This record gives sequence, structure tokens and C-alpha cells, in this order.
Amino acid sequence: MKLDRRLVIKILEEKIKSEGIVLGSDILKVDSFLNHQIDPFLMSQIGQAFAEKFSHENISKVLTIESSGIAPALMTSLQLQVPMIFARKHQSRTLNEEFFSASVYSYTKQTENQIAVSKRFINPGDRVLIIDDFLANGQAVQGLLDIINQAGASAVGVGIVIEKRFQAGHQLILSKNLPLVSLASIDRFEDGQVVFSKQGETSHVN
Ligand code: 5GP
Repeated sequence: MKLDRRLVIKILEEKIKSEGIVLGSDILKVDSFLNHQIDPFLMSQIGQAFAEKFSHENISKVLTIESSGIAPALMTSLQLQVPMIFARKHQSRTLNEEFFSASVYSYTKQTENQIAVSKRFINPGDRVLIIDDFLANGQAVQGLLDIINQAGASAVGVGIVIEKRFQAGHQLILSKNLPLVSLASIDRFEDGQVVFSKQGETSHVN
């Protein structure tokens, strides 16, 4: 079953409002449906929404970072009928020639991570769609773009489940002329509550 994209966004926003927990000034905890426990129905609808938006881009691979990007990326790749790859964290593989690697500053952990993808899985000519759970300052997306670049492949767009519009990532991606689809777009946190951007979903797809 496929729901209309606007309804999917509404369900996502409702879930964020009822189950999301604002931590400090800029972190949203959504571990009851996205980051720890996962809502498979919602995730499947999210995958269909991204796939619909990017269906004309002739995508050959979906790329994300472990672990929270995997669920939405897998659901998207299932719809697009292409493989999903997740960049691995945790191990430094900079000296291993079999991997493309990039350095990513982790927003939530405040540490620098090496991420790596086997050279076997991204090839020149691949048209890659990046999917992630959150967009904050854009460092995760930047690292994935770096890897796509090293592989000689093309990044064709970025799909984000929840963007925090008040941080720098949104502008960073647009400045690279990359199509960006963010399903839930948060304008700000106010008294521990989420305030969504007035325009709702942000979609910059050619
Ligand atoms: P960025 O690289 O854009 O600065 O941050 C994006 C990454 O950090 C995402 O992959 C996500 O895992 C994590 N992240 C950033 N902001 C939040 C947030 O408010 N809540 C959660 N749960 N993760 C976040």
C-alpha cells in the first residue's frame, strides 16, 4: 500500500510531535520510531515517498551511513529496485586501498569518524542517491559525497527524513546544486517543542 506523500509527511510530523524529545537547543530524539525502535510501516512509506521523488533520476545505488540511515535507505532502494550501500563507521580504514574513505564529524557524538565503503560497490558511472535520517550541518552528506567523488560516480540527489532547517546542512547541499528532498522540515525548537517550517516538506528537485 502506498499513501500519498503529503499524508506520509503528516504522519511523520505527528509522530515527531507526539514521540520526539527535544534535547538541549538542537537535538531531537526519535528513538521510538527511527533511531532505535523502528516503525516498519512508516519507514516503508518514507521509502516510497523518496523513490517517487527521484524516480526519473535513473538511480543505480542508494548510499547512507550506518546505522540510522539504513532503514529509510533500504526502503528507498527496495522501491527503486537498486542495491543499498551503507558506509561503515567504527574502524579506521584509511590505509586500506580496497576502501574509499572520508572523515566525518559526528554531530551527536561530537567526534571525528572515518567512514568507509568498499571499492567494489561504487563504480564510475553509478548514479547515487544519498539518504539519511537527519540533516544538521551536512557533514555526513559531505562525507558521502566525498566517497562518491572518489569512486568517479555521480551524486544525483539527497533524501532526508528530518532536516533541522536552522542548521547549515540545507544551504550546503543547495550550494552544491544537488536536488534535496526533506520530508519533515524543522524550523526551530521552542520551549522544548518542535516547530515545523511553514512551507512543510522542502523539495528542491529539478
Ligand atoms: P550532520 O552531519 O548533517 O551535521 O548531522 C547528521 C547526522 O547526525 C545524521 O546522520 C544523524 O545521525 C545525526 N544527527 C544530527 N542531528 C540529529 C538530531 O537532532 N537527532 C538525531 N537523533 N540524530 C541527529
